[in-house]
Amino acid sequence: MTEIETLNGEVRGCQRCRLAQTRKLAVPGEGSERADLLFIGEAPGFWENEQGRPFVGPAGQLLDELLALIGVKRATVYISNVVKCRPPGNREPLPDEIAACAGYLDRLIAALKPKVVVTLGRYSMARFFPPGKSMKELHGKVVWRDGMACVAMYHPAAVLRQASLRPVIEADFRTIPGILAQAKAGAAQQEQAEAEQLSLF
Ligand code: SF4
Repeated sequence: MTEIETLNGEVRGCQRCRLAQTRKLAVPGEGSERADLLFIGEAPGFWENEQGRPFVGPAGQLLDELLALIGVKRATVYISNVVKCRPPGNREPLPDEIAACAGYLDRLIAALKPKVVVTLGRYSMARFFPPGKSMKELHGKVVWRDGMACVAMYHPAAVLRQASLRPVIEADFRTIPGILAQAKAGAAQQEQAEAEQLSLF
């Protein structure tokens, strides 16, 4: 059994926070264990809670469309969430729930070693980007963390609520292949990007 399979098994039985009491199924991450691209959303919704799989509802359909837009098959990436159990009524996850679940994401990243992390929504953005900036300011921006390129994007559910964001997220997704190529190209480009990101904050 791989480290990621072990991790996902632990998630399915996890009782570390109050969300275990109200979930139907915990939702571990899913995808290729050789993925260069890791997408991190916020929390499972209704359909994810029913099926125990991430991004299978309407927001997941939009994610599939966005991946198709850049010629990426879902089976080749890895998809997870900041918290693995559905908050009741789709409320926002609470700070202690995010803290309780954070270790699973740490272990996933350590085992997967993605080249690019795409944060979907402000909760996953907050894990990698400096505080105090809005999604409007940071979407499409890249920061480097431990050798990974991290890029902030709107959550697909937000795009479904606000149609005017559709061209914004499409434009941001179109930057992913270039960011991935840059991440693969090595340390020289990374150092240059680090210097460039300093001008953002
Ligand atoms: S949200 Fe995370 S920490 Fe809380 S019960 Fe689910 S898996 Fe465990």
